Amino acid sequence: MKNIAKIAIIKPLHNLFDYEIPEDIGILEPGSRVSVEFGKRIIIGVVVHITKQDGPSSYKLKKILEIIDKKPLIEKETIDLFIWISNYYHAPLGQVFGIGTPSLFRKGKKLPKVEKNIIEINKAKLSKNIVLTKEQNDAIKIIEKSLDFYECFLLDGITGSGKTEVYKSIQNKIYEKGYQTLIIVPEKNLIPELLRYFKIKNVRVIEYHSSLTPKKKFTNWNLIQNHKVDIIIGTRSSIFLQIPKLGLIIIDEEHDTSFKNNSEARYNARDVAVFRAKNKNIPIILGSATPSSETILNVSKNKYTHIKMRNRINNQSLPALNVINMSNRKKSIIISEEVISAIKYRIKNKEQTLIFLNRRGYSPVITCRDCSWVPKCSACNLNMTFHKNKNLLMCHHCGLLKKFNNICKACNSNDIAFIGEGTEKIEEIIKEEFSESNIIRIDSDSTKKKGQTEEIFNDIKDNKYDILIGTQMLSKGHNFPNVTLVVVMNIDQSLFSPRLKAIEQLAQQLIQVSGRSGRGNKKGEVILQTSFPENEDLNCLIKEGYEKWMQNLLLLRNNLGLPPYRNWGIIQARSSKYLNAEKFLENIKIMISKHGGVETFGPMPSVMHKRVNLYNLNLIVQAKSKAQLNYVIKDCIPHIKDIPYSNNIRWTIDIDPVDYD
Ligand code: ADP
Ligand code: ZN
Ligand code: ZN
Repeated sequence: MKNIAKIAIIKPLHNLFDYEIPEDIGILEPGSRVSVEFGKRIIIGVVVHITKQDGPSSYKLKKILEIIDKKPLIEKETIDLFIWISNYYHAPLGQVFGIGTPSLFRKGKKLPKVEKNIIEINKAKLSKNIVLTKEQNDAIKIIEKSLDFYECFLLDGITGSGKTEVYKSIQNKIYEKGYQTLIIVPEKNLIPELLRYFKIKNVRVIEYHSSLTPKKKFTNWNLIQNHKVDIIIGTRSSIFLQIPKLGLIIIDEEHDTSFKNNSEARYNARDVAVFRAKNKNIPIILGSATPSSETILNVSKNKYTHIKMRNRINNQSLPALNVINMSNRKKSIIISEEVISAIKYRIKNKEQTLIFLNRRGYSPVITCRDCSWVPKCSACNLNMTFHKNKNLLMCHHCGLLKKFNNICKACNSNDIAFIGEGTEKIEEIIKEEFSESNIIRIDSDSTKKKGQTEEIFNDIKDNKYDILIGTQMLSKGHNFPNVTLVVVMNIDQSLFSPRLKAIEQLAQQLIQVSGRSGRGNKKGEVILQTSFPENEDLNCLIKEGYEKWMQNLLLLRNNLGLPPYRNWGIIQARSSKYLNAEKFLENIKIMISKHGGVETFGPMPSVMHKRVNLYNLNLIVQAKSKAQLNYVIKDCIPHIKDIPYSNNIRWTIDIDPVDYD
């Protein structure tokens, strides 16, 4: 009888592969890396199970060539987590191993030497001696009743209500019990401030995110696994970390859609975290000023414990929100007089203004006034955005770049109109208007260098700038005490977007960015420019607040039978031939419709229906329960390969989609 290892190969393959364990190779356990021959290449794989082969085999198995780890680096608990993720999101297990481990691990490298004083935080500030508010104390009292078992808390606290102190207090209690805390934030820019915040006395804090060098990532991974740290602060991929003494998970800004991975294994780190906490029987805190519809629904089903914090520290009031109607002004006016004079007032008082818009570049549409030519991406059929700084046209969907020197490519005219505005254009207008002031633009184009963003954020806090112009990079979580005016531009597109999550994301963004105003001692103001001041969603949000607005949204979704009251999976097919993708999905629809109790919508072209030369079509599968959704999709996957044309179709499955095209 032979010993067989079932091995996960780091590739998008649904199967595990059987290899014979040679008798003289030593002891092999699940979680160890091995080298094996795969096809004609020698590659690294991870052992998932070990079984015995009963009786003679009909085919000859290849043998494992070498054991890389004498002691497994991945424990059973982590393997089980990866298997769960693979099952829930219908993602190949090898792919989950791929995104769940550091690159040097996957390359078969030996562990780095476990170094002294590796976790050092620059500029570590001693935390102020803070007297907790009543709301903070009440929140802590509720959470600390469940330090030894699973309970999911929604810490629903308005911006500036002091949620971080609550996290810290609970983390400290977990630390005193000898356990580790995992904190996940939506963006790596939020990590440095938190590292400083949590670094006190002997508490060992470590970061984990995609900007670490491969070596640093492997080192940190190893330190975390060996309980050499007490707090891990990371982005979504930290949910895969093996943390031996995990005692608490905190998901900050739980509503944020960056927790969802939109390629490969489409996991949602927040949802995996809840599963993980439940499995491990430990508490989890979801924090937000604008909780997501899914989470509010879970609260209303009594699955989560709702803790509200409705006052800002020092009882500062939330900023006043003023709507400015742009529909009755000349088209050429991009920034209203009211906004200009409000900024002037702030400059006079040495206060800062933040101008927020969700579009980088100069202008989203350019056109020739002589022949009406509009540059489009040849691969995606979408308008290209003009980036004036570099004289480039860029497709914001596939990244295609083209030189552009203000000359029409169709008729050579130089009479080009720039329609709509991005951060670069707003920067240009503001610089003309406020030539004496210090102005900074912050978006993914302006902050490409490592460490640059942190430096800029520190300069903002040191008051080196009067006006900040930026995208959602500025709207999340940051604390800029001297910002007293927030101006929001360009929301009109999102008001009418066909995407299911668009309106919810807009509401969250408006509240979040407003929350950047008036966080110091001075009262804040928010100005919203829109051509649709009568819009119902907008009015409800402004007049009644986020909580009431969310109740209305949920009522509507319940009546329409839509998520979060229903569970969605989207099967997307991509093909160079539209009809093939359509027929492919029609076949899947038939397979799925055999099961009762599920509905399907489509196939239909996705919002972004042509992308990088492929047509994208979606089939939405809707079920009343997650289990049912999982069952019908799992049932159809093995038959997909039998569908005609399936070889030429690229298909993906997205469970609990967030930002699907
Ligand atoms: P939130 O995450 O809820 O928006 P933060 O946790 O960032 O709010 O807190 C806002 C600010 O208030 C921070 O500068 C924090 O240091 C400060 N703060 C928090 N709690 C207290 C307190 N009890 N007394 C004084 N300042 C506090
Ligand atoms: Zn032209
Ligand atoms: Zn493109």
